[in-house]
Amino acid sequence: MTYDLTPAFAAAQDAADPLAATRADFHIPPGPDGRPTAYFCGNSLGLLPIAARAAVEAEFKSWETQAVEGHFHGEAPWMFYHKTLAEAEARIVGARPLEVVVMNTLTVNLHLLLVSFYRPTPTRYKVLMEGGAFPSDQYALESQARLHGLDPDEVIVELVPRPGEHTLRTEDIEAKIAELGDSLATIILGGINYYTGQVFDMAAITRAGHAVGALVGFDLAHAAGNIELKLHDWDVDFACWCTYKYLNSGPGGTSGAFVHERFANRPDLVRLAGWWGQDPKERFQMKKGFRPTPGADGWQVSCGQVLPMAVHKASLAVFEGVGGLAPLRAKSEKLTGYLEFWIKSLGLPANHLEIITPADPAQRGCQLSLLVHERGRELFDFLAAQGIIGDWREPNVIRLAPVPLYNSFEDVRRAGAALQTFFK
Ligand SMILES: *Cc1c(COP(=O)(O)O)cnc(C)c1O
Repeated sequence: MTYDLTPAFAAAQDAADPLAATRADFHIPPGPDGRPTAYFCGNSLGLLPIAARAAVEAEFKSWETQAVEGHFHGEAPWMFYHKTLAEAEARIVGARPLEVVVMNTLTVNLHLLLVSFYRPTPTRYKVLMEGGAFPSDQYALESQARLHGLDPDEVIVELVPRPGEHTLRTEDIEAKIAELGDSLATIILGGINYYTGQVFDMAAITRAGHAVGALVGFDLAHAAGNIELKLHDWDVDFACWCTYKYLNSGPGGTSGAFVHERFANRPDLVRLAGWWGQDPKERFQMKKGFRPTPGADGWQVSCGQVLPMAVHKASLAVFEGVGGLAPLRAKSEKLTGYLEFWIKSLGLPANHLEIITPADPAQRGCQLSLLVHERGRELFDFLAAQGIIGDWREPNVIRLAPVPLYNSFEDVRRAGAALQTFFK
């Protein structure tokens, strides 16, 4: 695709964009001058889908008029509410409906899955993760090591880029996996690194992990709703993700978990159990003996959080309405490429400002991470004052994520023009 910097180019792209209308499905917050913001922060908190309010209101209505009967009656009885999300959720991550469940929040799901998929033995006890992984994931893994009476420093092996590089090479990840060999119990990486925006080759990493007998899982916080995923076909063992980033399901929103079909009927897998994971036929018999329901549902602990799930359902309907991730990705690559074009047009040397996200569209999603060596915070504040919303990650990274569901080419042009003004 060839880009140019004229307003006419952005206008023509927006006019030709088959997804342009979905912007109207979201509330776009106003900026300091009252105009809608150019919101590039969907990597942190996605925008509110307009339909979410009515979806929550419907459950309020059910509660108001039916109270406890809402568990069993109404359009989507609460007892099985999570089931109404499974098909659309499965399409988001490339899974079979049996393999996914919507429940809890992300770090909680990571713990629940690690209880099953990190089972250290005296010889196979290591965990491979990204150096500088999202802090919650680091804390989760440290505490999982301690749960087993192990020293996190002995357990956790971190992948770091080669000197002078910002992202990891697949061949280096594969080599580390081979080197760890049968000491490696579990691999847990982000599907997309939150800081650099790098997409990992999940199929290759899963193959390499399985070749040494390790279990392989991904934290898809920055991948779900952003890039096309094929968890089932890639043979990934387990995964989890939040729904408040690219899946637009609200602060503290519910989360997703994936467990590959091959574990669907494995009641022998150790897990932390609760009544909602029990076979529903027996759930209300209140008798001793946990027998998990098949599939990812068997990892549920508590009754479903219907109100957050209602928001998520409305959000998933937007994804379904546009035909899923394939058309979104086609727009996303253009939009992010356009932002990259603007940044490159600044002509700044790498020791002043550099994009640390891979240049290859296949190795990134929406997000570009700008490493700003000088006046980074000043730039960030300047953009915010113009209603251009990204986010700031210490020590000096600005993340900008044009989201194909609600960002326009004009949004990107505005950001690009503001960058030009700042650096003039
Ligand atoms: C956003 C994010 C989290 C947040 O975890 P919560 O449990 O939802 O608070 C965890 N891990 C990664 C990689 C993230 O990007």
